[in-house]
Amino acid sequence: MNFNVDNAFALGTYEGSSTRTANKFIVLHETTNIGAKANASYFKNNWSTTQTYVQYVIGDGGKIYQVGADGYQAWGAGSYANANSPVQIELARTTDKATFKKDYATFVNFARSKAREFGIPTTLDAYGNGIKTHKWISDNIWGSHTDPVNSYLEPFWGITHEQLAKDILSGISEPVAPKKTFTNINNVVTVLNGNVKAYATYKKDGSANGTTNIGPGTGWISAGIEMINGKPHYLIGGNIYIPQSITTFNDRVAINSDIPVHAVDHTGKVVNIDLVGGSAWKFGSMSNIPGAGWCYQIATDMFLPIEYAQGSGFKG
Ligand SMILES: [Zn+2]
Repeated sequence: MNFNVDNAFALGTYEGSSTRTANKFIVLHETTNIGAKANASYFKNNWSTTQTYVQYVIGDGGKIYQVGADGYQAWGAGSYANANSPVQIELARTTDKATFKKDYATFVNFARSKAREFGIPTTLDAYGNGIKTHKWISDNIWGSHTDPVNSYLEPFWGITHEQLAKDILSGISEPVAPKKTFTNINNVVTVLNGNVKAYATYKKDGSANGTTNIGPGTGWISAGIEMINGKPHYLIGGNIYIPQSITTFNDRVAINSDIPVHAVDHTGKVVNIDLVGGSAWKFGSMSNIPGAGWCYQIATDMFLPIEYAQGSGFKG
């Protein structure tokens, strides 16, 4: 099987580790955010001795982007796994079913191909050398990450560990139909294309996540909106929040419903004006309204509760 690999974001000669690996494992990850190109670009532009990067990022409809060089250490899964894995692969997220089918088939088949190239068995998370999930590395060697199955493949697309193991063993000739379809785009938030290398993320207590920055233009699935440092923030990972002000929703709030919803006034009484699903509203400050909780102020005496906002994590 031949693969087209895009080298636009490959690390240069003096970038990345110059230490060779042993050939024991191929490690499988998922990026936690949307888009392979954006992730590969982020790895390339934020390369340093403390930031994560891997050899390949797969997504965007089966595209493969190379970052680190095969057979040289990447920084994706702790020192032992990094020293023994000639290839580590990130699967980027998508919310589109057709895109996912291509991404998953390429992810599986490319991992198998790299395993054969380095004389590594095409078994998943079995005893000894082989293809390993990051979760297996965490459970058996070091770390706490549970990707890619528990964090993405199973909850979003219904692909169990057993299914992935079967596919890794035999390969995918015809892309499989995901058992579950993830169609809720209402909770996707997109970071602004600002002229910065990366944006900071925050914890619930308001402090910065020193080791977790995110790239401009990246898309994320938000699990909720919370007030942090007095401003609305999206929850994009375990205790990882980004300010609404660095997203395309920096000055407006879009309604997450396909039927009209209603705002409340400053006393919490429903305002009888239909706000059409999908419509976007400029907002000023945030107010905590009795009975409605935190709301976006969208008119002089109209406040939209955050559960009606795209990015609120509400699944309907
Ligand atoms: Zn991982």
